[in-house]
Amino acid sequence: RAKTAGPGTVRFFEVSDDKSARDRRALQRDLEKAVGRDELFLVYQPFFDIRENRVTGFEALLRWQHPVRGVISPAEFIPIAEETGLIHPIGEWVVRRACSTLSNWPSDLRVAVNFSAAQFHNTSILQTIVQALAQARVAPSRLEIEITESMLISKYGPASSILNSLLELGVTVALDDFGTGFSSLTYLLKLPYTRIKIDQSFIRDMLTRPDSAAVVKSIIGLAQDLHIGVVAEGVETTEQLECLRQTSCDEVQGYLIGRPVSADRIFALLDQNRQWTTPAA
Ligand code: C2E
Ligand code: MG
Ligand code: MG
Ligand code: MG
Repeated sequence: RAKTAGPGTVRFFEVSDDKSARDRRALQRDLEKAVGRDELFLVYQPFFDIRENRVTGFEALLRWQHPVRGVISPAEFIPIAEETGLIHPIGEWVVRRACSTLSNWPSDLRVAVNFSAAQFHNTSILQTIVQALAQARVAPSRLEIEITESMLISKYGPASSILNSLLELGVTVALDDFGTGFSSLTYLLKLPYTRIKIDQSFIRDMLTRPDSAAVVKSIIGLAQDLHIGVVAEGVETTEQLECLRQTSCDEVQGYLIGRPVSADRIFALLDQNRQWTTPAA
């Protein structure tokens, strides 16, 4: 670490550590107020079914409209929320809002919500999800929970009882960023997941790197053998889409199909044309 790196470097690192620590504390204080001030909002990114040629639902992605800094990405503030416990009220807000938005959509569409490991540390999350579904009057099968592989091997591992209860209710569960963790397949697939989502890093490189292409192909094969769904994340080109079509991937997501947009914007698109297809189709 910096403090043992020699006299010449100590000061430099201490100063920048101080600044980033201060920034972080300031952001943390602002985040405490963000929920009450209605500064958080969700954007929605479509899932596109390659065979059926239609949009099957949307993933809810969190954004923070900071009063001074503008829109802040979840990659920046979710870690702070996790460390401070703010992830609990924020996560509750996300699932309630996503379910209430879902209630305005045609019934053949689902919404996917991202969860942090820490949220499953609090068993009241189950009650929160059940209430959110009931209040919005939407079928549990239209809600999908996205969890990452790394979450399963974290210290919050025993979340499997909550996941099992959700699956029994009919809520679906997707394994996000699949292929990026270090866990064994047998461990990963202990629960009856509904879907796996191939991490975007493999999709990005699949046409230029044979190893990435092999990973994509084998994840799709695995999903087929297990009779579960498979989604490719981060599809940006028609060449990638074509390749995934030939490999029998079920669904794709990415800027080619649609960027994340506000609920209003989706509602307008669905209003005109409930079978919302896409230019890429
Ligand atoms: P994720 O769930 O894996 O979401 C995919 C990320 O890739 C999103 O970034 C999305 O905007 C981005 N993306 C989608 N298509 C493309 C593409 O074609 N190319 C590229 N380069 N990127 C694409 P975003 O919205 O910044 O979210 C980052 C991560 O933050 C998410 O990764 C998720 O892990 C986390 N996150 C987002 N919303 C929530 C939330 O409500 N709760 C929790 N706990 N985590 C969240
Ligand atoms: Mg996700
Ligand atoms: Mg992902
Ligand atoms: Mg991710």
